[in-house]
Amino acid sequence: MKSLELLSEYSNYLEEQKLEGKKIIAFMSHDSIPEELIDAAGFIPLRLIFAGNDDLMNASHDYLPPSTCSFAQSCIGYFARKPNLYKFLELVDYILLSNHCVSDICVSEIISDNFNVERLNLYVPYTRNESAIKYYKIELENLRKELENIIGHEIPDQKIKESIDKYNLFKKKLAEIEKLEISGSQKLEIFQKAILFGPKILNEIEKLIQKNREITSNDSQTESNNKKVIFTGCSIFLGDYLMDLIEESGGEIVFFNTWIGHNYISQIYSDKILNSTDDPIDLFLYRFKTNIYGDHSVPDSLDNEISYLETFINEYQKENGEKLAVINHVIKFCDHFSLFQSTLKERLQNKGIQVLNLERDYSRANRGQLSTRIEAFMEMI
Ligand code: SF4
Repeated sequence: MKSLELLSEYSNYLEEQKLEGKKIIAFMSHDSIPEELIDAAGFIPLRLIFAGNDDLMNASHDYLPPSTCSFAQSCIGYFARKPNLYKFLELVDYILLSNHCVSDICVSEIISDNFNVERLNLYVPYTRNESAIKYYKIELENLRKELENIIGHEIPDQKIKESIDKYNLFKKKLAEIEKLEISGSQKLEIFQKAILFGPKILNEIEKLIQKNREITSNDSQTESNNKKVIFTGCSIFLGDYLMDLIEESGGEIVFFNTWIGHNYISQIYSDKILNSTDDPIDLFLYRFKTNIYGDHSVPDSLDNEISYLETFINEYQKENGEKLAVINHVIKFCDHFSLFQSTLKERLQNKGIQVLNLERDYSRANRGQLSTRIEAFMEMI
């Protein structure tokens, strides 16, 4: 129900923005897209984060084989089927193709070729060496030029810098949400809304933090019997029922180690770095270089993730006396997370951490089976 409200609010917002003459650039919600550049150029960055339903997946099969990840299938589905819920996607002017994974490329090409949406490109290197940084710089500059050609004038450095500051402040606030004592589903709703609306909802986020702090300080602490877990792997997108299943099974997600969650929020610049240069492209390069937890073939990304999870779990245990378990969410046929799932599980289990590898698509027929697996895992921990 909440997701329907959010979609309707977002749809109204986009319509207002279009009436004001703004153009919309959509892209699959992954890493390394400089949304601040898009914002500074006066466009609305629209991250495609909608999924979780069979109809959308099925609607994609004229374009993609069913052996493509179900998120990618869904992205085609809402353009192909145009259900009322996603009517606002007809307002999209451009699709930004990036090579986060093969599905990202295919989906963006298909949307552009079949649904009358112009295409922009941003290729992101798969390594982090000096040549890769240079290449990413060229790609950023090309994207900047493409945007400047569309709007018919230059995008001043200062404007991009202001946008970087704005998003940075916003992410710092979102990092406070991570620490609030609210349910996992409440946090996820906030993160999803934040990813869609961006810094325009900064005030709303600040009020929410304030209100929750007051509630927490007035409340006498009640112990919850829910099983506390970290959620890692593929994000939970808007419209997915997975969060309900986890909470109905007695699970409580205390930390979202996913793109819609900590990966996005944690890409914050310190004041020192922000003040170290007037060139905003340098700041994008810095973020690219230091983003070692992304899943875009960053060297040693699995090692980094395992050591990050282990440290988080140990620190949480010291502070709260509870050992967290891990749910590793793998969308079926996801290039990135399917490959690593057995090794991730094995290595974490060797460190005494319990892991559930939850590989699935969005088919509603699987709901019962998924629920049983999650309940069994909760029982076990
Ligand atoms: S394959 Fe994985 S990384 Fe690529 S679109 Fe699907 S969920 Fe995202």
